[in-house]
Amino acid sequence: MAEIAAARRIQKVWTSSPTLEGAGVHLRRAFGFHELPRFDPFLMLDDFRSDNPADYLAGFPWHPHRGIETITYVLDGDVEHEDSLGNGGVIGSGDIQWMTAGSGILHQEMPKGSKKGSMCGFQLWANLPAAQKMMDPRYRDVKSGMVPVIEDAGARILVVAGRVGRTVGPVRDVVIEPEYLDVTLPPHTPWSRPVAPGHTVFAYVIDGEASFEPGAKASPNQTLVLFGRSGSLQVETRSRPARFLLVSGKPLGEPVAWHGPIVMNTRDQIREAFEEYEKGTFVKKSGAAK
Ligand code: FE
Repeated sequence: MAEIAAARRIQKVWTSSPTLEGAGVHLRRAFGFHELPRFDPFLMLDDFRSDNPADYLAGFPWHPHRGIETITYVLDGDVEHEDSLGNGGVIGSGDIQWMTAGSGILHQEMPKGSKKGSMCGFQLWANLPAAQKMMDPRYRDVKSGMVPVIEDAGARILVVAGRVGRTVGPVRDVVIEPEYLDVTLPPHTPWSRPVAPGHTVFAYVIDGEASFEPGAKASPNQTLVLFGRSGSLQVETRSRPARFLLVSGKPLGEPVAWHGPIVMNTRDQIREAFEEYEKGTFVKKSGAAK
């Protein structure tokens, strides 16, 4: 009965909370500043799903980032973007964009929605280790057809980042090397997944409901589940199917100084970043390299 020893326990369960961001975007924050450092090496997860364009059209006009990487996963609707490296385009349904702010990037992200007016996307912030906070900024774009879909013991998994069996997700080069899976389970399906000991792992439910620990009650849409640090995940659906994002990574264990879109290790580094922003010397590398 090997499975008895291995279940990873739930540490805490939250429901994402309504938040106003950017120029007036109504979104839901699964976790962020107030949960530091529980999700280390992750900093934030925002859920911008809405059927009402008034919730998202104000968008996120030009703003800076330093010291982090962002991973934007869009399931429905378009997000137009532009940045100081000279990149620009549309993140469409099923696409993923990830961006290394590194030493500094200016960008804007403007959700436009689908023809029906709906928007469905998620943005995850991954921290950069101290040694890489000032690396050159970079940007990557993955189109929906490049995300592998696999069957794994009854689960349907889109492998966004990391490896399941022999399948490796297209989001590579994120410094903290996260695993990022989009998992769908049909009703009455037990599913387990090993996670490296000591790694942070969380699930965020985006449809249906699932139980995330043997005997635990089912968690519905918009529920965030943070797990303990050892054992395998044991997830189960009952009468309803479930779809959830499953993300894991190795904690950095470094000090975090965070102000708005800039996340460094010390207060002095934050002050320096804002001084540079005021002086116009924030961006160290611009579109010339593109
Ligand atoms: Fe941004």
